Amino acid sequence: MIRPGKMLAQILGSIFKKPATTRYPFIKSKASDMPDKFRGKLVFHPQMCIGCKLCMRDCPSGAITINKRPDGRFEAVIDLGKCIFCGQCVDSCMKKALEMSKEFELAVLDNTKLKVTYGAGPQKDAGR
Ligand code: SF4
Ligand code: SF4
Repeated sequence: MIRPGKMLAQILGSIFKKPATTRYPFIKSKASDMPDKFRGKLVFHPQMCIGCKLCMRDCPSGAITINKRPDGRFEAVIDLGKCIFCGQCVDSCMKKALEMSKEFELAVLDNTKLKVTYGAGPQKDAGR
């Protein structure tokens, strides 16, 4: 049991301490403010992918699908509505074709927009 004197010291100490939380969304946080190992929106690098599908096999929520395109390259379809941002696919990928960004503002009104195809169309590191 905490003694009243000790409790009072803790209360007084807390009054002058900077809060551990931020006033988001009233005060906007930037992706660059996130800590180093933050797990935000997935990024796919199609030029690195060899189509082994280990990421698909290991994803616990069935959120990622790898498709072969007619040009022989691969695209990733990621359902951000299913993704739990566990990072397992990133760990499973031997080719470093997947990476977690620090992007965290992913809410949309239309949930069809949560299904993102990376690597389709002109080659660039899509999805950003
Ligand atoms: S594990 Fe990596 S290389 Fe294999 S299909 Fe997935 S993204 Fe491509
Ligand atoms: S981060 Fe986790 S849930 Fe999301 S696609 Fe990768 S393995 Fe699946």
